[in-house]
Amino acid sequence: MARVSLASLSAQLRKLRDEVVQQGPQKIEPNRKDASTIGVSDEDEQALSEMMQTLASQQNRRQSELLVQIDRALARLDREPDMVGLCEECEEEIDERRLTLRPYVTLCAECQANHDPKRNQGRKGLTDFR
Ligand SMILES: [Zn+2]
Repeated sequence: MARVSLASLSAQLRKLRDEVVQQGPQKIEPNRKDASTIGVSDEDEQALSEMMQTLASQQNRRQSELLVQIDRALARLDREPDMVGLCEECEEEIDERRLTLRPYVTLCAECQANHDPKRNQGRKGLTDFR
C-alpha cells in the first residue's frame, strides 16, 4: 500500500492525541473580575461571563469529539490496516493532503460533507474546528 504509511499515520494520531489530552478541558471561570475594570456594566459582565462559559463548553465538546475520532482511527488502524486511507463509506481513497492535515478522518471529503452539510468546508488547521 503506497497511499499512506501506517506507521507514520499511527505516530501522527498518537502525537495529536497527546496534544489534545495535554490541553485538557477549558477552565470555566464563573465570574471574570477583569471585565469590571474595563468599565463593563454588571449586566454586560454577566453576559460576557455566560459567553465565555458557552465558548469553553463548546471547545470542550469539540475536544472530546476529536478524541473519539482519534481513538476510532487508531482502533481501525489495528483492526483493518488495509482500509486505512480509504473512506469508510464509499471506499474511495481519501485525499492524502486531507489525511495529512487530519489523520483521524475516516471519510472522504464528499461523504463527510454529506454527513455534515452545515459545517464550513475549507477548514485548515487542527485547531481550526469551525
Ligand atoms: Zn467517501
